[in-house]
Amino acid sequence: MPHPKRKNSKSRRDKRRTHYKASVPSMSTCSHCGEIKLAHRACPSCGYYNERSMFIPKG
Ligand SMILES: [Zn+2]
Repeated sequence: MPHPKRKNSKSRRDKRRTHYKASVPSMSTCSHCGEIKLAHRACPSCGYYNERSMFIPKG
């Protein structure tokens, strides 16, 4: 099995991790009720996706 020859220092490890960042979720507005919702997801407030009702929101 291939094996790392040297331990990476904390500095090297942390420099590599500078590229890791949390991505902002892409949001869009619902075409049915106009609420802000996650893209490619049914609207949480009206339950619509592609002009069709996916579920009846409770509350
Ligand atoms: Zn909606």
